Amino acid sequence: MRIGAHVDSADPLAEAAARGAEAVQFFLTDPQKYNSPKPRADAEQIRASGIDVYVHAPYIINVASPNNRIRIPSRKLLMAHARAAAELGAKGLIVHGGHVGSGADLEAGFANWRKAFEYAENDGGLPLPVLIENTAGGDNACARRFDALARLWDAVGSFGAGFCLDTCHAFAGGEDLVGIVDRVKAITGRIDLIHANDSKGGFDSGQDRHDNLGSGKIDTELVVAAIRASGAPAIVETPGGIDGQTADIALLRERAGN
Ligand SMILES: [Zn+2]
Repeated sequence: MRIGAHVDSADPLAEAAARGAEAVQFFLTDPQKYNSPKPRADAEQIRASGIDVYVHAPYIINVASPNNRIRIPSRKLLMAHARAAAELGAKGLIVHGGHVGSGADLEAGFANWRKAFEYAENDGGLPLPVLIENTAGGDNACARRFDALARLWDAVGSFGAGFCLDTCHAFAGGEDLVGIVDRVKAITGRIDLIHANDSKGGFDSGQDRHDNLGSGKIDTELVVAAIRASGAPAIVETPGGIDGQTADIALLRERAGN
């Protein structure tokens, strides 16, 4: 059972050590900007560390967008982050499912996802798995409701897309956490990573507001059950810095371990 946390990118190995974490996730650039990652001085240490590394792509990426001034840079940025993440020996690059504008046809979003993978194939291929993450909000999201997720997977499954299940996003997005691993796997066939977060927002609130385990609206047993059922590594993206995340990791290790 590999458990870790989303941490600041300045010194992720020190952050992992401070939390007793076996895995870390971090951004390579400002998540709100279209910046390509630069080579890191600590790449060799990260690769040799034995810590499982996950890279979270910028939030601003939306390869599903019908707007080509968003979609085209998003595709390129995704590829740049995939290459930089692979340089660090990362196990996956997490990217949000994205959305189309209000009133737009979701089908266009799924087709754009397919084109993003085709673009990557034509650009030398993805050097590591891209893990598409379910999202909490929006009525025109590609990976909020699982009926949409199923249509997304029809478009991208054949490209070897991976899946990251965020428990906060599922709950706030209106998907029941009871039996959720089986429902996801019936669609995607795989869960590569769990984002183990509690939710400040209520069920189906659409609010993406993470909380420490046991402090929000989710029954922690359902988060534990999702980790156990999936057998996937878990990353907490919870508040409270070292103290808050160390407590969340310890709770998961105690209850989801073995
Ligand atoms: Zn997440």
